[in-house]
Amino acid sequence: MARVFNFSAGPATLPEAVLQQAAAEMLDWNGSGQSVMEMSHRGKEYMAIHAQAEADLRELMGIPANYKVLFLQGGATLQFSMIPMNLMRGKSGADYVNTGEWAKKAIKEAKPFGQVNVVASAEDANFSYAPAQSGWKLDPNAAYVHYTANETIGGVEFHWVPETGDVPLVCDMSSNILSKSVDVSKYGLIYAGAQKNIGPAGLTIVIVRDDLIGQAQPKPITMLDYKTHADNDSMYNTPPTYSIYIAGLVFQLLKKQGGLVAIEKKNIEKANLLYDFLDNSQFFKNPVKREDRSRMNIPFTLKDESFDEAFLKGAKERNMIQLKGHRSVGGMRASIYNAMPVEGVQALVAYMKEFEAKNG
Ligand SMILES: *Cc1c(COP(=O)(O)O)cnc(C)c1O
Repeated sequence: MARVFNFSAGPATLPEAVLQQAAAEMLDWNGSGQSVMEMSHRGKEYMAIHAQAEADLRELMGIPANYKVLFLQGGATLQFSMIPMNLMRGKSGADYVNTGEWAKKAIKEAKPFGQVNVVASAEDANFSYAPAQSGWKLDPNAAYVHYTANETIGGVEFHWVPETGDVPLVCDMSSNILSKSVDVSKYGLIYAGAQKNIGPAGLTIVIVRDDLIGQAQPKPITMLDYKTHADNDSMYNTPPTYSIYIAGLVFQLLKKQGGLVAIEKKNIEKANLLYDFLDNSQFFKNPVKREDRSRMNIPFTLKDESFDEAFLKGAKERNMIQLKGHRSVGGMRASIYNAMPVEGVQALVAYMKEFEAKNG
């Protein structure tokens, strides 16, 4: 059976080379006579996998020594609560930028922990752009500033890093982490669920500066306190071992592919293929402001909704799946994370051309 081109927003397609290696190692990892899934998380085999995954992520992202890398569970969604719980630090509130569905969820969950100031919002234009920083009403006493680097549903991405001075910058990087190089030192905290651009669901990565750890309040709850996980190398309780193993294989592959600068170049080329087609089409269109378009999630609509069903059916017949847009916005969405080969984007564009010629 041929593998499909899977344009799902998450859980998303994984690199074939990683799946093949995992398959080859499934019953017997490295002569240990056991699957990684079966290993004690405190045994030397798994401990080595865990440490290597962290070291490779640190190398890929250039994570400075004064940041902890935490392998957690609960998804990016749990971070919406853990962040204010750990980072409010007795201050009266935090600043949030509202760029769409995911930002709205983060804002909602922060409210029980303090005053949430929405310092900028793109709601006025249906979340089709990233608000320029010149319009943000930042509070110099805010505990932190939170923004969503890539709105997975709306297809809006920040191609610049906000400047927040001494106020820690907190970023939901769930859907574009590892898609490009970033200067981690500009952030107080970066978080991401793994199932978009890293590995299987069940793993959430938090990269947090040392000085922001250990001030959870009002009363630290052991499992929700970053300090617990920082002090125990993410092994306070059983970590999602198999997800961390697969993420580790992905990190090694990205290193082999030349690191994040090379990956970014490839992602720009892939996204341009689709955007160039969309911009020249009379039939398909993308609603996002040009300079804020996501390289990872590309929503598009057809001339009118009546074509949607036929488009999805034809895509499926050509081995392309999961192109239906999010239920909240309709239309289509192609998620083209690191693991989507350029051939997948080429196949999609060829099909869209054919579809337009027939129906346009
Ligand atoms: C998917 C996603 C989330 C939620 O992730 P879960 O792991 O399902 O909790 C949050 N933010 C962004 C930007 C996402 O893409």
